[in-house]
Amino acid sequence: MKTLVFATSNKHKLTELKAILPDFDIKGLSDIGIIEEIPETGSTLEENAWIKAKYLYDCTGQTSFSEDTGLEVDILGGQPGVHTARYAGEQRNPQDNMAKLLHELVDKSDRYAQFRTVIAMVDDSGVRYFEGLVRGKIALQKSGIEGFGYDPVFIPDGYDRTFADLSGEIKNQISHRARAVQELVDFLKN
Ligand code: IMP
Repeated sequence: MKTLVFATSNKHKLTELKAILPDFDIKGLSDIGIIEEIPETGSTLEENAWIKAKYLYDCTGQTSFSEDTGLEVDILGGQPGVHTARYAGEQRNPQDNMAKLLHELVDKSDRYAQFRTVIAMVDDSGVRYFEGLVRGKIALQKSGIEGFGYDPVFIPDGYDRTFADLSGEIKNQISHRARAVQELVDFLKN
């Protein structure tokens, strides 16, 4: 079974990646003994994904992967985007982040948004990017207990419930991350 090491310590992401990629041995940073947090100093999702994958590549010399995700809200000009994790401050608290987002959109009827995931793959020949996105809208209030992050306020197109109301199985079929991973898998298979 081929091992893919992702430059993340986020347990929720690793759980999703394992479910999406059952034919691969998925490892995170702590599985290979890297405990420090890699600073996300880029100004785009692509840059952040590259920084983390490059760091891992420099440590291991192996083909390395990283993913970065942002929530891009149309009426906010694509914000919070690269600032999604720290939208309400350095504490990176999902409840605070969702409260701020709902507050920003309180009188807005245009609530269209998308989750966008960028995966960077770094190897001897440089960097390659894979992208996945899911369109949807921001709910009027939080709902659901599944998933993580902004899942309780994101209603994917074609559904009338939030990601946090839907099963992990459904989310893993339609999500931004699943779509980016599918692009990566298609590439790895060819
Ligand atoms: P990062 O990719 O770990 O930097 O995550 C950026 C932000 O997006 C964090 O606040 C995450 O909680 C949030 N996020 C990433 N993926 C998802 C998802 O699948 N659902 C909801 N929120 C997410």
